[in-house]
Amino acid sequence: CGIVGVIGKKNATQVLLQGLEKLEYRGYDSAGIYVNDQQGHDYLVKRVGRIKNLENAVTDDVVGSMGIGHTRWATNGMPSEANSHPHLSNDERFYLVHNGVITNANALRDQYLQGIELASETDTEIVVQLVALFAREGLDAKAAFAKTLKMLDGSYAFSLVDRLTPDTLYVAKNKSPLLIGKGDGFNAVASDAMALISETDQFVALQDEELVILTKDNIAIETLAGEPVSRDAFTVKLDD
Ligand code: GLU
Repeated sequence: CGIVGVIGKKNATQVLLQGLEKLEYRGYDSAGIYVNDQQGHDYLVKRVGRIKNLENAVTDDVVGSMGIGHTRWATNGMPSEANSHPHLSNDERFYLVHNGVITNANALRDQYLQGIELASETDTEIVVQLVALFAREGLDAKAAFAKTLKMLDGSYAFSLVDRLTPDTLYVAKNKSPLLIGKGDGFNAVASDAMALISETDQFVALQDEELVILTKDNIAIETLAGEPVSRDAFTVKLDD
């Protein structure tokens, strides 16, 4: 299972699909991408089975400059298109990919999401519906995401898109691998540096319970308590 995300690349679709291919070795049962052209068009494509199935389903009009991609190893809900990521909130504002398992997802659903119809059986959808709920209650996207993260038990690597601000990617991790790829005029995120090595050799490590606000020109890391974290990039060299 794996995550890849990018912001500020004209060929975001290709960056995501190539990244997912590099993550295939981690194992998966389904895959999906969400792409946004930052000009009012966006696309969601998901398929059960090989990345090849997904690639075949991605038509030429799926073009964008930011997006998120996912390979799923089902933990909550069988492999199916409905359970594949990215998951979206019912108001279609937030799109989320997730690796890991949220162990208190059903308790959070029962407490906060009564009356909200869920489209999947995943723990992940519960998370994205919570973010949307807290945003509807008045929090901005970052605060809604941070509030949700503080409630979660279990493991996660997350990449979140708010369709109202497609110049930003929100990223967080706890006990699941995730790191930032730093580019010139773009930034990216992945479970493994290999997924981005054809785009950049500069990476920024993340620690558990950190939240990242990623734009094409900036990497802002904070703790869940909201304290800024400063961390240098390191260089990844491939042995040849
Ligand atoms: N728990 C999530 C699901 O079952 C994510 C699984 C994964 O790590 O791919 O959909």
